[in-house]
Amino acid sequence: MFKAVLIEKDEAGYRAGVTELDDAALPEGDVTVRVAYSTLNYKDGLAITGKGPVVRKFPMVPGIDLAGTVEASSHPAIAVGDAVVLNGWGVGEGHWGGLAQRARLKGDWLVPLPATFTPRQAMAIGTAGYTAMLCVMALERHGVSPEQGEVLVTGANGGVGSVAVALLAKLGFTVVASTGRPQEADYLKALGAAEIIDRAQFSAPGKPLAKERWAGAVDTVGSHTLANVCASTRYRGTVAACGLAQGMDLPATVAPFILRGVTLAGVDSVMAPRAERLEAWRRLAQDLDVGKLELMAHEIGLGEVVATAAALLDGKVRGRVVVDVNR
Ligand code: NDP
Repeated sequence: MFKAVLIEKDEAGYRAGVTELDDAALPEGDVTVRVAYSTLNYKDGLAITGKGPVVRKFPMVPGIDLAGTVEASSHPAIAVGDAVVLNGWGVGEGHWGGLAQRARLKGDWLVPLPATFTPRQAMAIGTAGYTAMLCVMALERHGVSPEQGEVLVTGANGGVGSVAVALLAKLGFTVVASTGRPQEADYLKALGAAEIIDRAQFSAPGKPLAKERWAGAVDTVGSHTLANVCASTRYRGTVAACGLAQGMDLPATVAPFILRGVTLAGVDSVMAPRAERLEAWRRLAQDLDVGKLELMAHEIGLGEVVATAAALLDGKVRGRVVVDVNR
């Protein structure tokens, strides 16, 4: 038997809670992992609260991330005792996920836990942090560099935003953090932000083109915010778009793209190829200051997951949430 968060949907409604499950109930897979830590991302919040159509079959154990130790394996490249990390691949959506003491998965989905990180630190990073790294890599791929000027991070107090601020600052960029929580300015400055701006300036419908300011941007918010960020990006700058915290729509014009040569770079972490994941984790080990990681992470137990998921969607959680699945 093992403890897990379980989401059910039936005539009684949509609900999530901690329960005990039999090992025999685990889904198919060639690797069984004893989970040490999981985490809460925005998508986990949507799954647990039912506020977004994330879960594709019921009952579902949520959790798009996990870190733990291999307990059983018939995968040729994975041995019992290996320390592993999983991000995405539809786990916690269509396949039972990491908010549990045990998980059975496809070995091909797993990456080795980088030697630099403990399982807890890997989950302080989680999909949010790995996505922030993918966004930074997208900016680099499109030639954005520190001497070109300021870079913007939207949703800066969130998980992706916090890690993006820390990474970009460490890489020498002048980082401007956009947030609806100016009271967290000291936190954002401690992560490396040079300036804090009010997200309200991006939230409403704007002009097709605005004053050029950003050499690059990481946008976790979508909707009018993303449109306004593109409109204020400098000639030949790049915006890495990964999120939809304001909305899934994009009420923009083509003006920034055709008049300023701006690049809108889409970032997806869920199905990203293995080579890119390994590179992102290698870069995280190299470019993320572990002290800043501790600053942005707080820990909860499995029993606190449901309440914290609701708070996360309400924008009341700062930084990253680590879940100790064994308490
Ligand atoms: P968080 O909830 O931790 O952060 C989201 C942040 O967005 C909030 O903290 C808040 O920041 C800001 N925000 C919330 N609501 C609004 C709003 N109405 N208008 C403007 N800003 C808002 O989530 P994550 O960091 O885990 O994820 C961020 C986004 O990225 C989500 O949409 C998520 O689905 C997406 N994502 C996508 C991935 C991919 O593969 N493409 C992978 C991971 C995440 P503040 O308080 O500073 O304003």
